[in-house]
Amino acid sequence: MSRLSVFETVLVQFDKAADLMELDPEIRKILSHTTNEIVVNFPVVMDNGCVRMFTGYRVQHNNVLGPYKGGLRFHPQVDLDEVRALAAWMTWKTALAGIPYGGAKGGIDVRPWELSPRELERVTRRFTFALGSNIGPEYDIPAPDMNTNPQIMAWILDTYLQMMPPMERNRAVHVVTGKPVESGGSVGRNKATGQGLVFVLEAWAKDHGFELQGATYIIQGFGNVGSWAARLLKPLGAILVGVEDHSGALVNPEGIDPDDMAAWVEREGRIQGYAKAEPVDHETFFGTQADFFIPAALEEQITAETAPLLKVGVVIEGANGPTDVDGDRIMLEKGIHVLPDVLANAGGVIVSYFEWLQNKRSEFWDLDEVDARLHRQIVGAYCSVRDIAKEYQTDWRTAAYIVALRRLEQTYKKRGIFP
Ligand code: NAD
Repeated sequence: MSRLSVFETVLVQFDKAADLMELDPEIRKILSHTTNEIVVNFPVVMDNGCVRMFTGYRVQHNNVLGPYKGGLRFHPQVDLDEVRALAAWMTWKTALAGIPYGGAKGGIDVRPWELSPRELERVTRRFTFALGSNIGPEYDIPAPDMNTNPQIMAWILDTYLQMMPPMERNRAVHVVTGKPVESGGSVGRNKATGQGLVFVLEAWAKDHGFELQGATYIIQGFGNVGSWAARLLKPLGAILVGVEDHSGALVNPEGIDPDDMAAWVEREGRIQGYAKAEPVDHETFFGTQADFFIPAALEEQITAETAPLLKVGVVIEGANGPTDVDGDRIMLEKGIHVLPDVLANAGGVIVSYFEWLQNKRSEFWDLDEVDARLHRQIVGAYCSVRDIAKEYQTDWRTAAYIVALRRLEQTYKKRGIFP
């Protein structure tokens, strides 16, 4: 059988939950499709004076619960299928988190590391211009994802505001979230996805008598999500014994200091060359003995090839879609517990929602308030998933989908289908 595309994987996960919960067949038809798919080709003048064409995407999956919401990814793997999948996952994630958003995602097919900072800025601004009124503060709100960051969000904001009449500009600052704090961002947004993941893991550990103090783990991806998760796990006593990123993998059974590694990556842009751990190949990294694994890079990493190698008891998905259908089946057979992406990495979009609310109300919340609200919201979602998994005697991914799909179904049933 040929390998499923990423969006096909989403549909397999969706169908499993929809069958189990007996989702209304008419609503099922709607939710298995995206709503809008925007593809833009745009020119950018490069530093050498030549024009280069770029292709950007924005897929809006569903907005029955509120404005479309989801990140922008700059990566050569970005294509329509991947963006569709990521947009659908956002619909389930926002519904599960109980925040008033729909799901969207976007990105550019580009190798950002090959661009100069000025080229990156021009590509970002020109993409924002090309998207035009397809995004908006009450309509579709982008945020950071792989290879995009607060600086890029600030350029998007600035470009979007330039396209508006001057008297409207101050009312549109919430067109994008994940902004630098100086440009209307929220404190706590940068670490939010890692923080949410740690809150979910702590809740799970408490329920399962699992001791985080002294527990060992490996992490794939040491960017925003991975590095923050590791840094926040350090004070809880968990020990990082293996890391992989795009440049290779490193292990050290004695432990790798996450702050030291983060400082290295900040300086070097990769884990490669870090001297206080041993380089290993991809297979050895996946076979590292540890208590848990945090995938926090790309999708389709835990597969028929890699899942059999895993020697961990729990997987907490920081990345979106790191596990394909075979990976899920094999982990289930091996008794590996999976805390699924739509739950475990929801902290980012939850704090994005807080940023959006603060912008709308001209308020500034302090870090204690942001963290306390994030904790309440994500642990609430955790409890719903746990309870539904028990009620339906199913895995947690399917349970997370059921919680989300129930909310979407109830909303459609009340509102009806136009006309
Ligand atoms: P990032 O760009 O900050 O970091 C990505 C990391 O993945 C880097 O360390 C990179 O080296 C690594 N990587 C890339 N290709 C790899 C490969 N082939 N093998 C191993 N490692 C590889 O991105 P991020 O924002 O941390 O996002 C990581 C994942 O988390 C993505 O799936 C993203 O969709 C998801 N996510 C991010 C957020 C957020 O707030 N940033 C929120 C929810 C989910």
